[in-house]
Amino acid sequence: MSPTETDPTVWLHHGRSFLAAVMLAALWTGESVTPIFPGRQRRLSHIATNLALAAINAVIASGFAFAILAVTEWARTRPFGLLNLTPLPVGLHWLGAILLLDCWQYGWHRLNHRVPLLWRFHAVHHSDAEMDASSGVRFHTGEMVLSFLARLAVLPLIGLTLTQLLVYEFVSLPVILFHHSNLRISSRVDRWLRWVIVTPWMHSVHHSRWQPETDSNYTSFLSVWDRLFGSFRLRDKPAEISLGLDNYKESEWRQLPGMLAAPFTKSPSHDFATQKPLQ
Ligand SMILES: [Zn+2]
Ligand SMILES: [Zn+2]
Repeated sequence: MSPTETDPTVWLHHGRSFLAAVMLAALWTGESVTPIFPGRQRRLSHIATNLALAAINAVIASGFAFAILAVTEWARTRPFGLLNLTPLPVGLHWLGAILLLDCWQYGWHRLNHRVPLLWRFHAVHHSDAEMDASSGVRFHTGEMVLSFLARLAVLPLIGLTLTQLLVYEFVSLPVILFHHSNLRISSRVDRWLRWVIVTPWMHSVHHSRWQPETDSNYTSFLSVWDRLFGSFRLRDKPAEISLGLDNYKESEWRQLPGMLAAPFTKSPSHDFATQKPLQ
């Protein structure tokens, strides 16, 4: 099967790119008016570098599209996977799909902090000391490839359809851009929002230089997983958090060539020995 122009998956795919552009523009404006971390100097070059990395990733990701389509089709026609063990009402199948995929994303992110090889790539995301909405798409190409390879195994095990995957990505992307943004919102609004989704306050803690904070708040969409698995953490004053990683202070790591080379040239510099066991 291949998607046609009337296929909802095509609209979801293109709609996601459009939504990302609108969100980035809106958050850029909000970050200019009420920033959490004021006084940023090089905002345009920062966003340009992050978007350049995202553009490289988008090209590579298109190569995985057919593999993702193949495994989800395979699981759908068997049917195969956890969600297909017993017949479920459509609504429950969808709810299960969103929750299980989000839970997997939580676990995969946590593994990225736990396994030295994965951290080498994931550290590029954390190296951003000037986090803003564009940091939500700043992932090393190697991390994205490894994530796609893992998904090829996990998606059929869950029994997810391609439409469910694309809907998940469509609804989670705005949240990811939002919680990476340098947009200051009232603490009351943040508190209410983070009962459901990840907020800038919550994710700023994850981007702290202090490792006990770096190794917390792993979830990327629904906040429930950090609460459930004991990795939820907050700081009283998020504006006082020092963002980034200590061993990425030099300017070369802020440039695209340096970011791409970093996993192969830098030591991980992350204490894996003292981490709490995975729950
Ligand atoms: Zn992380
Ligand atoms: Zn992040």
